[in-house]
Amino acid sequence: DETTVAIIGAGPAGLTLANLLQRSGVDCVVLEARDRAYVENRQRAGIIDHHAGRIFEEYGLADRIVGDGPVETLMEIRTDGVPRFLDTPALAGGRPSRLVPQQMLVRRLIAAFLDGGGDLRFDAADVAVHDLTGPRPRVTYRGGEVHAAYLAGCDGFHGVSRRSIPAEALRTYSFDHGIGWFSVLADAPPPRYPLMGVSRHGFAAQFARGPYASRFYLQYQPGEDPRQWTDEHTWAQLRLRLGDPDLVAGPITGREVVDMRSFVAEPMDHGRLFLVGDAAHIITPMGAKGMNLALTDASVLARALTAAVHQGDETGLREYSAVCLRRTWDYQEFSRWYAEMVHEAGDESQPFRRRLALARLDRLFTSPAAATAFADLMAGTDPGQPD
Ligand code: FAD
Repeated sequence: DETTVAIIGAGPAGLTLANLLQRSGVDCVVLEARDRAYVENRQRAGIIDHHAGRIFEEYGLADRIVGDGPVETLMEIRTDGVPRFLDTPALAGGRPSRLVPQQMLVRRLIAAFLDGGGDLRFDAADVAVHDLTGPRPRVTYRGGEVHAAYLAGCDGFHGVSRRSIPAEALRTYSFDHGIGWFSVLADAPPPRYPLMGVSRHGFAAQFARGPYASRFYLQYQPGEDPRQWTDEHTWAQLRLRLGDPDLVAGPITGREVVDMRSFVAEPMDHGRLFLVGDAAHIITPMGAKGMNLALTDASVLARALTAAVHQGDETGLREYSAVCLRRTWDYQEFSRWYAEMVHEAGDESQPFRRRLALARLDRLFTSPAAATAFADLMAGTDPGQPD
């Protein structure tokens, strides 16, 4: 088969890219290793920040993709049970993020692409990429082959695309944040506002995942295996850390140990292969930027590919990696800064660092300039290019 862009992976990155290309009149084929039901039910992220949400507006897809997602208003940081609130959308000049659970986003993107006549092939086993630096790269999979002008590696951290680039052509950065996080999905009423609990019992957070479910995060200590925690222990810890003895429990539907690791591969391209989203970088959930980076990479690449295909102008493709890496590092720094603050502020084993972290946290509530800088990152930015 022949196409203009072969996209590997139908997660948020690949599906966003596919839809934006379709809307721009650029042919593409999407190859996904898993089946449709699996992809549509994978629950992970939940927030589309304001900056990423604007991508769908630009392409006339906002109503269909993010339209009815509740808008974020306040956020709460509770320190040893004492609540404080930040109105981040207002502090960012009226730029709210929206709650759109990842599986809902993926379902909508699949439906929109297929309704537009898109070519999306599930169950594509043994995907391999070839001739990356030649004029006509191709992708093979069990039972098929696609020739393309460009390849987009949107196949996540464990995918095949990044691994197909010669090691000497990539510089990679890997960082273990030294924090253990356990994530629990439960059919329990969501909090009124996104909630973070800083306490000497460890960090915990609670976020809405739709009107009836919550995703909780709990810090665990090195050497512990939180998968062994009983439900009773988990709820008791959450009540303690969130400072809410009346926290309503519900059936736990998912348990996951979250990798608190950062990774960046530079550059994000090799010949005619472009890495997008988690294939190029992963970030901790602190600050909720992983999925947003996937969406913004896809938008930068869609614009660059459209200019290359329709105007023969490859400037955007040459700049793709540098543009995306600037935002990636900006968000990595934000995520690290944020994680350090909320974990160290409760860590009594390091009294000096704890006081520094508490000072950093207090500053958000006492200095309008600090609060605005924080809110600006929450809303999403183009580093070096003011919104
Ligand atoms: P993926 O979602 O990983 O999609 C890659 C796709 O490629 C998958 O469909 C996969 O099946 C497919 N694929 C893989 N290998 C191949 C192959 N060889 N051939 C063909 N297809 C292949 N981010 C946030 O912004 N906020 C959050 O709150 C948040 N919470 C998270 C919680 C958890 C528990 C986890 C695990 C992640 C969380 N993230 C969060 C991160 C977010 O989910 C990712 O950043 C996002 O999914 C990246 O999208 P992607 O399309 O780049 O990659």
